[in-house]
Amino acid sequence: MNTSGPLESNLCVDVLIVGGGPAGLSAATELARRGHAARVALIEREDVAGGIPRHCAHPGFGLRDLHRFLCGPAYARRLTERALEAGARLFTQTMMTHWCDRHAVEVTSPRGRHRIEARAVVLATGARERSRAARLIAGDRVAGVLTTGQLQDLVHVHGRPVGTRAVIVGAEWVSWSAVLTLRHAGCKPVLMVSRQAQAEAGAAATLLGRLGLRVPVLTRSRVSRIVGRERVSAVEVEALDTGQRRMLPCDTVVLTGSWIPDHELARAAELTMDPESRGPVVDTSQATSRPGIFAIGNLTHPVDTADVAALDGVAVAEHVLAFLDAPERAGCADRVDGADGADAAPYRRVLPGDGLRWISPGWMHGHTRPPRDRFLCAPSRFVRQPLVTVSQGGRTLARRGLLWPVSPGPVLRLPAALLDSGRGCAEPLVVSLAEASASSP
Ligand SMILES: Cc1cc2nc3c(=O)[nH]c(=O)nc-3n(C[C@H](O)[C@H](O)[C@H](O)COP(=O)(O)OP(=O)(O)OC[C@H]3O[C@@H](n4cnc5c(N)ncnc54)[C@H](O)[C@@H]3O)c2cc1C
Repeated sequence: MNTSGPLESNLCVDVLIVGGGPAGLSAATELARRGHAARVALIEREDVAGGIPRHCAHPGFGLRDLHRFLCGPAYARRLTERALEAGARLFTQTMMTHWCDRHAVEVTSPRGRHRIEARAVVLATGARERSRAARLIAGDRVAGVLTTGQLQDLVHVHGRPVGTRAVIVGAEWVSWSAVLTLRHAGCKPVLMVSRQAQAEAGAAATLLGRLGLRVPVLTRSRVSRIVGRERVSAVEVEALDTGQRRMLPCDTVVLTGSWIPDHELARAAELTMDPESRGPVVDTSQATSRPGIFAIGNLTHPVDTADVAALDGVAVAEHVLAFLDAPERAGCADRVDGADGADAAPYRRVLPGDGLRWISPGWMHGHTRPPRDRFLCAPSRFVRQPLVTVSQGGRTLARRGLLWPVSPGPVLRLPAALLDSGRGCAEPLVVSLAEASASSP
C-alpha cells in the first residue's frame, strides 16, 4: 500500500488527523476532496492504515458509507486507497505522543521525535476492549488471555496459532466475531460467559449464534479466576446469583466487548470527558471543549459500526473548515454551560436519563445537526418495548416508541428530530429509556 511511510521531519499543516481507522481516513478523504489535501496530514501508529477492520476477516463493513458489503480488510484497503486517491497525506508508524502547546503536537516514529504544528486537530483514535486487569479477573498471570482485537491480529494479520479450547468473556456482537476467528484458527469455543441476565447482543443475534455457531451462552455468571502455570489450563466460573463456582478446562480466554475509548490524548488535552463512555464530550459539530480540537468515531461512541464512524469523518470536515475560516468565532460549550438563559445561547447540554449510560453528542450547537442526523446512546439495560422520552426542566417534550427491543450491547441510534423542540431553552435536555408499559398512565 502506497502510504507515505513514517514522518521524517517537522511539519506544519492546517489540520492534523490522529488515527487512521475508518473515521480518520474518511475525514482525510473529505478534507482532501474539498481542496485541502496539501494542508492536511493523517498519522497512524500502525504500519498500515485501516484501523480495526484490518483484523476483521468477515463481511459486514461499508454498507452506509460505501454502499457495499465488504470484508473488514477489503474495507480498510478501500478507505485507505480513497484517501490516497483524494490526495491526503498519510504517515504510518507515526504516533502522537504529546501535546506541546495549543498549536503543536509531538509525534514519535522510527525516524525519531518530530513536531507537527496544526491549526486544528481531529482525534480519531478509536476504542479498545478492556484488558484483564481492568476487568479485575483474579488468578495466575499466564499466556493465552487475549482481547478480540489481539486474537484477530494474531490470527488474521500474523497467521499465528491460538489454543484448542476457548472460553469467551462477554456476549456482545463482537463476541460472535471472536467465535468466527477462533473457529478459523482451529480453536473450539466451549462457552460464552455474560454477567447480564440475557446476552448483550440481544435475543435475535444470540439465537442465531447459538444455533449457527453452537456456542452455549451462560448468563448471570462471570469468569472469577484464571488458572495455569505458563498457559491457561482452566477458568473458574461463578454464578452471580448463587455464588456457586466450577472449574472449566480451556487453554484460551478471549475478553470481548466492554469498550473503552483510546482516550489518553483527549485526557492529556484536559478535554471535558463523559464519565460513562470515558470519551471526550463533543457538540453536534464534533467539536470538543477546547476550540480547534475535534473528536470523531468510536473515541466518542464506544462502539458503533465502522460505517457510522466513517460518516462522522465525512461530517466533521465542514465544521473543521468553518473553524479554519473563522477561529475567533469558535465557541466552546463548556464556557456557556447552559447557564446563560438567553435564546441566542448556542449550546444546549444533552444528558442521559434513566435507562441510558451515555449519549453523544453531549451538546447541541445552534442548529447544527449531528452526523447522520442521529444521537447515539448506550442502553444500560434490556427493554422489551422501549419508549424514549425527551424532557427539559421536568417537562416532557417528546416521546417515541421503538419497534425493536434494546439491549446493553449495541449502540442505540435516535433521530435528532426528537430533540428539536428543546432548542429554544437553556435547560439541559434529558433523554431516557423505559418499558412502554411502565410509562403508560
Ligand atoms: C472484532 C470486531 C468486529 C467488528 N465487526 C464489525 C462489522 O462487522 N461491521 C462494522 O461495521 N463494524 C465492525 N466492528 C466495529 C468497527 O471496527 C469500528 O466501529 C471501527 O473500526 C471504528 O473506527 P474508528 O476509526 O473510530 O476507530 P479504529 O478503527 O479503532 O481506528 C483508530 C486508529 O487510531 C490509531 N491510533 C490510536 N492512537 C493513536 C495515536 N496516538 N497516534 C496515531 N494513531 C493512533 C489506531 O492505531 C487505529 O488504527 C468490529 C469491531 C471489532 C473489534
